[in-house]
Amino acid sequence: MVNKTKRTEVSDFCFACGSEQHVSVENRQLELMVRGEPVSVSVEVSVCPSCKAEVVADGSDPSQLAYEVYRERNRLLLPEQIIAIRKRYCLSQKAMALLIGMGEVTINRYERGALQDATHDSMIRAFDNPRFVLDALERRGKLLSSSQYSKALRRAKQLAGQSNRVAAVPKPWTNGLGAIVAKAKGAQDLIERSGSTWGLAAGQRLTA
Ligand SMILES: [Zn+2]
Repeated sequence: MVNKTKRTEVSDFCFACGSEQHVSVENRQLELMVRGEPVSVSVEVSVCPSCKAEVVADGSDPSQLAYEVYRERNRLLLPEQIIAIRKRYCLSQKAMALLIGMGEVTINRYERGALQDATHDSMIRAFDNPRFVLDALERRGKLLSSSQYSKALRRAKQLAGQSNRVAAVPKPWTNGLGAIVAKAKGAQDLIERSGSTWGLAAGQRLTA
């Protein structure tokens, strides 16, 4: 069963059968699995009247949308927040990785949208508190270049001095996806028919 909540006719081109068609755009609620949790997301698909192919229409990536919902639900940092925490101390990805004791590649992946686990989330989140960074600089600062070390130390001291209370991580986006989760039920068969719960990207066929 598939929810059809919107239908508009647009003149378009069907990439599936390669013909000029009046492709309709419809809203689909997809249920994806993220770390064993079902997550529902809403995407627009174009539907070809001739070959019935459904293609993600709005340039969104369903798996990334599902990650956003999962992050919000599990209170995980968003990639933007991870970047913001690192930049507060003028740290490079490499320097941040050295201070935390995490791989540089790992930090890089998280900042580009990979989903961090809860342990790594806590480790990065701790750096929101400048006193934690001061402590890390004391213990592991020798691994950093001297310019990186002194820049980070200056910023951490500044921020620690500004406030005695722990600085708050920016509130996660509230983009209405929570409401979509509540609405979306019964799209499971669509995903099952797609053959895979993962890897649906913009322009990719959902069904044939
Ligand atoms: Zn077609």
